[in-house]
Amino acid sequence: MASVIHNQGAERPKGQSATHSQFMMTWRDAAADMFLGATCPGCQRPSWRLCDDCRAQLAAYPAELHNKSALSGLPHWAGAPFAGLAGHLVTAAKDRRRWDVIPHLGARLATAVVELLASVPWLEPIWLTPIPSAPSAVRRRGLDVSCRLAASAQGFLRQAGLDCRTQRWLRLARPVADQAGLNYHQRQLNLAGAYRLIRSPPAADRQAGLILVDDVATTGASLAEGWRVCRQADLMVLGAATVTATSDRYDSAVASVVNRIQVPVLRQEKTSPA
Ligand SMILES: [Zn+2]
Repeated sequence: MASVIHNQGAERPKGQSATHSQFMMTWRDAAADMFLGATCPGCQRPSWRLCDDCRAQLAAYPAELHNKSALSGLPHWAGAPFAGLAGHLVTAAKDRRRWDVIPHLGARLATAVVELLASVPWLEPIWLTPIPSAPSAVRRRGLDVSCRLAASAQGFLRQAGLDCRTQRWLRLARPVADQAGLNYHQRQLNLAGAYRLIRSPPAADRQAGLILVDDVATTGASLAEGWRVCRQADLMVLGAATVTATSDRYDSAVASVVNRIQVPVLRQEKTSPA
């Protein structure tokens, strides 16, 4: 299945030579730069869209199994590392409204789902469940990026023959701060008890495979909270799939530092006079 998860957009029309096609793209890109200042969201070179070099680089990333400490026991695959091109594109989609990159990122998410399904037993249908975003973030971005990425990945997976559906089972139960800028411990506190189920899935679907999906996994706190809520509702979560993920070494190092800091603080509070 993995072989069919790729973006068709870069293929040139039949009957057109590569030289002619490249010439036309170069001319159009130069015009785009001259008149509109259009740039590739990956490398910032003149282009109407994600350039062919960036497309090829993005498609070449292998999906990787991650081991975030917050997700211990839950398989988590990411379609690309956050550091570098894929991270630039996620940021472009979320903060600069470059929604044209969503199909490219959706293909990486679909690849992560395929790798996850190769490692766990599952039955169809597969439900992709986006991690909820704060309404203020959706308003600011003009789009619920996680939902659009899930819908894009669903399209690729259905093309590959998988009965895959996207459903927002989770919603925010209370306001949360933007996770960006929070440290490891603050992220855990920010999201504790923050999600709840929108409604219970139909009885026939309760044991169907559910995959939590998101654009980025940093500490894994969002996915862990979504997993906790689904487990409490007795839903079968197969794993998590994200477009990108930061390095687990960074995650472990941060968790280790936070643990060293938090333990003395807690002990001090415990022994303080009431
Ligand atoms: Zn580029």
